[in-house]
Amino acid sequence: MPMNPTIAVVGSGPIGSAYARVLLETLPEARVIMFEAGPQLTPRAGASVRNIADPDEKARAREKSQGPQSGAFRESLGIPAGAVVEGMFTARQGTFLLDFGGEGSAHAPTFPAAAGATNVGGQGAHWTCATPAPAFSEKVPFIPDDEWDDLIAVAQHLLHVQGAAFADSPIGNAIRSLLDDEFGAELPEGYGVGTLPVAGDPQPDGTMVWAGADVVLGPLIEPGTPESARFELRDLTLVRRVEHEQGVVSGVTVEDLRSHETAFVPADLVVVAADAFRSPQLLWASGIRPAALGRYLTEHHVVISTVALDGDRMGGLVDDAQLAAELARRAQHAADPVAAVNRIPFSEPDHPFSLQVMYAENPPFPLDPAHPAAGNKWGYVNMGYGVRKLPRAEDGVRFDDGELDYAGFPNMTIEYALTDAEDAEIADATAHLRRAGAALGTFVAEPRLLPNGSSLHYMGTMRMGAADDGTSVADPYSRVWGTENLVVGGNALIPTANTMNPTLTSVALAVRGARRAAADLTARVAAGAASR
Ligand code: FAD
Repeated sequence: MPMNPTIAVVGSGPIGSAYARVLLETLPEARVIMFEAGPQLTPRAGASVRNIADPDEKARAREKSQGPQSGAFRESLGIPAGAVVEGMFTARQGTFLLDFGGEGSAHAPTFPAAAGATNVGGQGAHWTCATPAPAFSEKVPFIPDDEWDDLIAVAQHLLHVQGAAFADSPIGNAIRSLLDDEFGAELPEGYGVGTLPVAGDPQPDGTMVWAGADVVLGPLIEPGTPESARFELRDLTLVRRVEHEQGVVSGVTVEDLRSHETAFVPADLVVVAADAFRSPQLLWASGIRPAALGRYLTEHHVVISTVALDGDRMGGLVDDAQLAAELARRAQHAADPVAAVNRIPFSEPDHPFSLQVMYAENPPFPLDPAHPAAGNKWGYVNMGYGVRKLPRAEDGVRFDDGELDYAGFPNMTIEYALTDAEDAEIADATAHLRRAGAALGTFVAEPRLLPNGSSLHYMGTMRMGAADDGTSVADPYSRVWGTENLVVGGNALIPTANTMNPTLTSVALAVRGARRAAADLTARVAAGAASR
């Protein structure tokens, strides 16, 4: 083992970026090469596309992230032109459906909305930046509480989390007050109605510069820093295989998607953070196949609705001058759909789901001008409950060596089903959503359950566990069981039934994994030096 180890990171989303940052800051001699299958979208690597002001530029950045569904850009991104029949199915802008319907498409009839993004920054270039922390049984049970609190604090720092974003918004305040009147008495201390933490940097004019992987990378992409001299990001470079022998990883085989040349890159540590479907797929393709790989898939199911805020109730809490000031602030950044953001977090036993309430002055869909709630001067809230999925080995993704996907990997089939337990909590959450809607105004979109996969928060497929008993892929430090220097990262590590946005949790787990990987590397370097 050399004194200046090389670390290969697969995937440039927030999790791969957290590994790169912590490892380089902890190991002054180490070098990180980060491989990203997609293109760099912004001059500053990994920045949120939501910050791009020009609508055409923003649309272009999103399209280039859409992998097999990236339209005109597809061939330049190394994806065969024949992969997609135009106009079949679409996903949210910036993402592509895994089951997109063209040649080499995954099969996900029971999880149809499953999606990914292929670009520098990963889904973290497109995310909404909601960064709540897990609570009660959402937390990983085998990580001690005091260590967990420290990990969350570091993760919040890495992601630039604001605990009280838009807290001074009078509209947001009024929404909290109305929800508190309805639910406050039945929620436990500390888990009542509050602001939703988000990741970004508030600006003096009241707007937000949203965080992406760029803020996690931090000094690694600032010119002239010691860390930047030891960091290399290779975009449009697909990792085809993690090379290993007898549990020891030697590096990665990568394909340059511009030239289609393949090369072996040696590494002393490999971190795979390539999302909850493509990370297990890469492990499988590399012949690393723990029994739990791809199994125990969870997400949080989403019941959403849109409500027009009630004029009388809002008018009792907010005066016209305050409303005018709020709308003037919003007009400065009209393209940003997010303003005041509130929530009721998960708590047990009586509120085992998470509510998010996003205020906007316009509904998210065109409302018929004749609709009684059209043009509502108090605006609207889009709100939804996240409802947990209890982990089961039956839910998951299978990989087929006999059928390759559009990128040449063993193709995926997702198998997933809701049980009576989830159906009951979905019904309960829907009843809560109706109460919330009635407390705030009138529904312009009734509560409805989105199709499976809609959360974009896929967990469990490389879950961590306290013991190597066949129900987990990685140990509590994210090291793949049975391997010496292979670490995995991302939402796929989360082993619990989780109801909320998981990125903060996954960054906290990455900080823990990176600290331990740094210690392991240091020990291996010392052992190598002693044996020389
Ligand atoms: P990703 O960000 O998915 O990055 C993985 C990267 O790996 C991708 O860029 C991919 O191209 C690359 N890759 C894959 N395979 C290979 C390979 N073989 N070789 C090289 N590179 C490879 N989460 C929240 O917590 N809060 C939110 O409010 C929120 N909102 C969201 C809204 C949207 C529209 C979307 C799309 C996601 C949202 N998420 C949210 C989810 C959040 O973005 C993810 O949790 C987060 O990005 C996961 O980080 P990651 O680094 O594990 O994976």
